[in-house]
Amino acid sequence: MQYHSTRDKGISVSSAQAIKQGLSEEGGLFVPESFPHVSLDEIESLAGKSYHCRAYFVLSKFLTDFSEEDLRGCITSAYTKEKFGTDAIAPVYKLNDEVYFLELWHGPTCAFKDMALQILPHFLTTSMKMTNEDKEIIILVATSGDTGKAALEGFKDVAGTRIIVFYPDNGVSEIQKLQMVTQRGNNVSVAAVKGNFDDAQNGVKQIFTDAEYKDLLDRNGFKLSSANSINWGRLVPQIVYYFSAYADLLASGEISIGDEVNVVVPTGNFGNILASYYAKKMGLPIKTFICASNENNVLTDFIKTGVYNKNRRFHTTISPSMDILISSNLERFLYDLSGCDDGIVRELMEKLRSEGEYTVPADIKAAMQSMFDADFCDDKETMAAIRKTFDESGYVMDTHTAVAKYVYDKYRARTGDNTKTIIASTASPFKFNQSVLIALEDYNAVAGKDEFELLELLREKSGMKVPESLAELKDRTPIFNTVVEKDQMQNTVSDFLKVE
Ligand SMILES: *Cc1c(COP(=O)(O)O)cnc(C)c1O
Repeated sequence: MQYHSTRDKGISVSSAQAIKQGLSEEGGLFVPESFPHVSLDEIESLAGKSYHCRAYFVLSKFLTDFSEEDLRGCITSAYTKEKFGTDAIAPVYKLNDEVYFLELWHGPTCAFKDMALQILPHFLTTSMKMTNEDKEIIILVATSGDTGKAALEGFKDVAGTRIIVFYPDNGVSEIQKLQMVTQRGNNVSVAAVKGNFDDAQNGVKQIFTDAEYKDLLDRNGFKLSSANSINWGRLVPQIVYYFSAYADLLASGEISIGDEVNVVVPTGNFGNILASYYAKKMGLPIKTFICASNENNVLTDFIKTGVYNKNRRFHTTISPSMDILISSNLERFLYDLSGCDDGIVRELMEKLRSEGEYTVPADIKAAMQSMFDADFCDDKETMAAIRKTFDESGYVMDTHTAVAKYVYDKYRARTGDNTKTIIASTASPFKFNQSVLIALEDYNAVAGKDEFELLELLREKSGMKVPESLAELKDRTPIFNTVVEKDQMQNTVSDFLKVE
């Protein structure tokens, strides 16, 4: 299986090369040349299998240049019971006969990014070995909160790599910030950027596309790569859990083979929902994709109108990992919907860069709308969803999952569609404890309490166990306190690597 760039179909690289490089040189994203087809019989046979087996089944179809031994090694190192607290890795929770939460947050940082970022470093070191890479790989990450910590955990102390994480100064939760600035490891660095997530992401993209800077790093023995969801090595592991969830529903008799399900995804960069779309392309019976956004509802408007317009107010919300106005992975979706037309993708992405807006051709819009539904909710509605679900069932959702649940409930009421539905549950409620507690109680309940008192309070209220990785933050001292202007990010990288 070879990989093309969304902006230049003529480029063709192996999966090892695509993963090592992260982003294609002219700025495009790597996509597989075709999608392997999976039969219903094969899907049915996954029902009795472990997460490891399901992962090997899906990943081996895409990473065809990896040896079986290497690929199995990546999977078993990444998805351990020790790190995920459960053999299921991504368990499905049944809320009622129609709604199932796919819990993607049992990993070490309590958010769904672990599903990809625990395995990416193994993909990367394997890819380096396979391509005889002699340079040290530098991972640059712009994070809206969860990616940063998950990448730090995944890459810390991985030989042959170093990692630098940039997060928006005022755009992450207190716990997210603590998780990052207390990170240990001999190859890690963390800095805050004065700006929002898009500023941080643009800064990272600029560093990536600066040819002169690339030469400088090259001369010093470094090679840049990305752990952002633009890297194919991050996207491909996300396809696995949609197959796994379907297999779980088969195993528990909730569905029969071939039954269609809906998928609801709280969306930011469009990576997670794109992975579910790719699963459908491979043959997983998915009927409707429901794209849920917070008040940064650029994708809701896009799916409803075909016009992508990022020229709008940026909102800082209680679901900060979705506070995004440029959804990078949408580019892969456009490439696919246009029938792999790199010319159209180039044109639209250039429009986005120069005008902040583009309109897709009518056929792309029609194809998208035949499969995708979209809606959004504000913070108040997010809180109401947390409260309502808890009151009705005792299940506690984090703020991101709550956005998805709110949007799903609205969709269900509007359409009457009673298809069984998988909602991607993307973070532990403990990670966003303050907002969750305000939703379950009120402002007074959290007033004057520090993060650790809040964790304890949420434990009492929910009856859930506080994740070990959050509880232990209490005893850690912050290591990183750098705050940089958004046009100074390159200097921060140079300082860390000691290049001039
Ligand atoms: C990253 C993240 C999202 C958004 O996922 P995308 O793949 O960027 O669309 C949603 N919820 C949580 C908790 C996240 O960390």
